[in-house]
Amino acid sequence: MQIIDGRKLAADIRTRLKEKIAADGGTPHLAVVLAGDDEASLIYDRNKKKAAEEAGMICVIHHLSADVSQEEITGLVEKLNNDREVTGIIVQMPLPKHLDSFAVLRHISPEKDVDGFGVYNSGLLATNRRDGLIPATPKGILYMLQSTGENLSGKHAVIIGRSNIVGRPLASLLLQYDCTVTVTHSRTRNLAELARQADILVAACGKPKIVKKDWIKPGAIVIDVGINRVDGRLCGDVDFGEAAEKAAYLTPVPGGVGVMTVAMLLENVWEAYVKQKKKDL
Ligand code: NAD
Repeated sequence: MQIIDGRKLAADIRTRLKEKIAADGGTPHLAVVLAGDDEASLIYDRNKKKAAEEAGMICVIHHLSADVSQEEITGLVEKLNNDREVTGIIVQMPLPKHLDSFAVLRHISPEKDVDGFGVYNSGLLATNRRDGLIPATPKGILYMLQSTGENLSGKHAVIIGRSNIVGRPLASLLLQYDCTVTVTHSRTRNLAELARQADILVAACGKPKIVKKDWIKPGAIVIDVGINRVDGRLCGDVDFGEAAEKAAYLTPVPGGVGVMTVAMLLENVWEAYVKQKKKDL
């Protein structure tokens, strides 16, 4: 079994990015909109800021109070859309419950939507185009799959989870690369049986160690997206020890998909920066 080392892949991507930004001489600018004090969100955003700055970007966190109104938050997004210095905008999810997340995401200009969660970029991905901004987690997963050197065409990918940030966009992306895709979710009846048919098994359901060895086809590529905390320790949706007995390739948690997600977000900011610069010429 080979471990797909997210830390190594992400470090290489970030080093290359730093070199490209230094050679360009400009400064891509990532704006993060954060509402409230959700602890996980604060940690994610601090990590993004650190990584962006290490790559030579500016990252500003616009921290709003938990009781911010819909008008105030969309007003801020509008202001950032119109600010020529700002390259990319992300709105940290989950937003406080009284806000309409979909409406806020819809406000982000498609060319600055570096999370790729808006309807325009989601639509491009779903209609088989590669010129939009692709959500960072699916993009990182594709990169990890390609890093194995395996031919993806015709492989059966089974995705556990149908969220808008992982399962759905990943299904569209893998279809673009000619996988046969099955998307499963909380109402799927024969999950273990479907999982056993997967050449590529992606677990993204947020259920600690749900994927056991009898769910895995021998020789499968297993990608663990889950980030769960059990008794103070991080673990994925895959039982790593058991999966290691059956899989040909496996991603660890931590040090797998999570670190790739941050690297791919920065990659998206860079792509947006290059496109916006060309438009300005
Ligand atoms: P979500 O809660 O939005 O969606 C979970 C999905 O899993 C749903 O579609 C649900 O139907 C499905 N599901 C739930 N229980 C299931 C079960 N028992 N069997 C089959 N399907 C089931 O979650 P999300 O935001 O997509 O995140 C999923 C997991 O991935 C979480 O652990 C999250 O922390 C992690 N995550 C990691 C990264 C990363 O960068 N590594 C990024 C995003 C999310």
